[in-house]
Order: sequence, then structure tokens, then C-alpha cells
Amino acid sequence: AIPLVIAVSTSKAARNGLLIRDRAAFERARNTDVFVFDKTGTLTEGRFGVSDVVPLGDRDENEVLALAAALESRSEHPIAVGITEAAAERDIALSETSDFENLPGEGVQAQVDGASVRIVSPGYLEREGIAIDDDRIERLAEQGKTVVFVLVDNQPAGAIALSDIVREVSREAVDRLRAMGMQCMMLTGDSQPVAKAVADELGLDDFFAEVMPDQKATRIRELKEKGLSVAMVGDGVNDAPALTEADLGIAIGAGTDVAVESADIVLVNSDPRDVATVTELSAATYRKMI
Ligand code: ADP
Ligand code: MG
Repeated sequence: AIPLVIAVSTSKAARNGLLIRDRAAFERARNTDVFVFDKTGTLTEGRFGVSDVVPLGDRDENEVLALAAALESRSEHPIAVGITEAAAERDIALSETSDFENLPGEGVQAQVDGASVRIVSPGYLEREGIAIDDDRIERLAEQGKTVVFVLVDNQPAGAIALSDIVREVSREAVDRLRAMGMQCMMLTGDSQPVAKAVADELGLDDFFAEVMPDQKATRIRELKEKGLSVAMVGDGVNDAPALTEADLGIAIGAGTDVAVESADIVLVNSDPRDVATVTELSAATYRKMI
């Protein structure tokens, strides 16, 4: 039989949108050393707006945006949504694309008018040895903006800067967890400066940037190997292996089915403060039992 205090706690939790799928994991929550949060859509709104378009070749701003939006209209990534909306706001017509492909953790690619077009991360450029030395782009990155690059046949055609905003409720979540003596970290595929800006704004203990999707679970395992009890909080398909690897996997929001299936706890209301609430509830529930 389930002790009454736990049954009461879990049903009270469920009424508040905290779905406990694994009761042992709920018990472990109170002993967590480190909470690792996904950035985009978890700590931030996950809504990117285009702030700047920097042409790097013969094309003007609108031509760069048109090319980018032609590809991004095929992707569901928050960056893709931001670029597609910016093109729509400027009434830009999109070219036809073929052979569209997602490059997980790096960008997208397709054929447009016989050319191979890619939109990629700064990390991708680094790995491919494509150097872009431009003061304007450097400044945008320093401002904590997410910068992606448009390549045509491997030649830089432009850069697009986007900004997302940190959710108001994220700070409270972090403050409450830290008040319980727990560390808060962040894991993201986005660049170092963007990650640092968010980490500074929230007062996080540490962060991991430019993490490829298949490396997220590895970062969690490395923390566990230090003897830490690790919780992972995320929503995406990309986050599923990390949610499984963590001592406590928390899926936030409606999320994806894959994330929900991989999680011990699901936070239906998509509110990071619920991470603190469920942890406080774990502490209160099991304290009463002993
Ligand atoms: P996260 O889930 O942490 O936001 P992703 O793995 O989805 O990270 O993406 C990592 C990086 O890859 C992004 O910051 C961006 O630079 C690049 N990227 C991914 N998808 C796209 C896309 N559709 N368009 C442009 N860049 C992308
Ligand atoms: Mg994500």
C-alpha cells in the first residue's frame, strides 16, 4: 500500500499540473545536487525575433532574409519560426527549395535555384574552418544575440541575429532551488556568449554551450560521475536522452511525446517555478514520513 501522506501529495500535485510518473524519482527530488535546465523554451520564452540582418556578399538584407526564410519555412525550430516571421513582416516572397534537410544541432540545408544553401551555427563554421571576421557580427554576439550564418555554396552570404528573452518566472525558480542548497545549471546548443548572457542574468552556477544534441546525455553522465545527484529539465526531442540519463528527468510543458515518455515528472503548466514546487513537495512529503 502507498503511505497516505504520499498518496495525498501526489494527487495534490496532479491537481496542480505536476504529474508524477515515477514515485521513486519524486522521492529522490529532495536530494538533488544539481538541476540542469534546457535553455530555449524552458528558461527563455523560446520566441526568437530577428533584430539584425548583416549581408556579407553581393546580396542586400532582404535578399539574405528571402533566401534564409525559403529554407526556414520548412523547419519548426524556434530560430526558423523567427526568420520566417521576419520575412513575412517585410512581405518578402520565398523561393522554391528542394532537397531540404535538417542538420541536428547545427542548422538546415536545401537547394535553391541550383545553389546549395545552408543556415548554420557559429560552431558549424568553426568545425568547417570557415572564418568570418566582421566587427558588426562580433558586436551582435557580444550583446548576447543568437547569430546564424547563411552560406551559399559554402560562401558566406549573410548573418542573421535574433534575440529571445529570459522568462520572468525563471529567476524565481532558480532562486527557490538555490535557497534549498541546490545548484542550477543550463545546457544549450546555442553559442557561448548567448549562454553566458542568460546564465549571468539568472545567476546560474554554471552552463554548457554549443552542446550537440547527441552530447546532452553525456554532459549529464559526466556530472553524475562526479558523484552528484542530477536532475534534467527540458522539453524537446533533443532532450529525451538527457532526461533518461538524469537521476530525475523533468519534462516541462506540453513538450513533445518523446520528452514526456522519457521523464519521471511532467510539469503540464510549462512553468519552471513548478520545478521548485515539486522539489519542495518532495522534501515536505518525505520529511513527514521519517
Ligand atoms: P537548443 O535546443 O539548445 O536550442 P539546438 O540543438 O536546437 O539547440 O540548436 C543549436 C544551434 O544550431 C542553434 O543555436 C543554431 O545556431 C543552430 N540551428 C539549429 N537549428 C537551426 C535552424 N533551423 N536554423 C538555423 N540555425 C539552427
Ligand atoms: Mg531545445
